[in-house]
Amino acid sequence: TPTSRIDRLLSSMGYGSRTEIARIARAGKVMLDGEALRDVTARIPVTPDLSARMMVQGEALDPVAGMVVLMNKPLGVTCSHKDEGTLIHDLLPPRWRRRNPPLSTVGRLDRQTTGLLLLTDDGDLLHRIISPRHHVDKIYRVTLARPLDGTEAEHFASGRFMLQGEDKPLAPAFLDVLTETEALIRITEGRYHQVRRMFAAAGNHVVELHRESLGGLSLPDDLGLGQWSLLDPGDVARIL
Ligand code: URA
Repeated sequence: TPTSRIDRLLSSMGYGSRTEIARIARAGKVMLDGEALRDVTARIPVTPDLSARMMVQGEALDPVAGMVVLMNKPLGVTCSHKDEGTLIHDLLPPRWRRRNPPLSTVGRLDRQTTGLLLLTDDGDLLHRIISPRHHVDKIYRVTLARPLDGTEAEHFASGRFMLQGEDKPLAPAFLDVLTETEALIRITEGRYHQVRRMFAAAGNHVVELHRESLGGLSLPDDLGLGQWSLLDPGDVARIL
């Protein structure tokens, strides 16, 4: 089990500078198993159960490193730090922005795409999910501007479908038509604006795009747009 100095641990989790943490601890506001920890230079074992055993300023400790967040991304929020406007991190507790290792989105959804988005600080897990070699399925619900013409499913599944400006055909993708203008599409790649560009290449236009699932993970029915929940990293590793 890794150990860490209390001040280093809390500082890496965004609770403040080491000086600030020393001050909070001297005031008796860092508790472990019901006892105040006043010496922040002491080392403690860093285990996932710390968030259930430790309190900082009267609140349960945030999850320690190795966390996974499941979010139902709302419209108009961006996954990239370079863009302006509301960022995914604006929907999470502010101190999580200061975590080290950082909490990153697992791949990206466009600003105007909604639905399942994972965030993690576990680099291995992140790479395993987004690596093209692993072919993790992604299912999107698509709403189109014009009725489907009935030829799309065959083209998308052919393994020969090309996107404009690219020279490598798309891996087969599978379409499940729901209504004239709605479908589920299952893809294994994650090319730039992939689903929007696929329908554009098929002569249509995506007006709404919502990710319903990633690998064996789906959005829970009771998780509204903009809401998030913590997942057990072990569970995620097993199903992705
Ligand atoms: N395909 C897109 O076009 N946009 C997304 O956000 C995800 C997949």
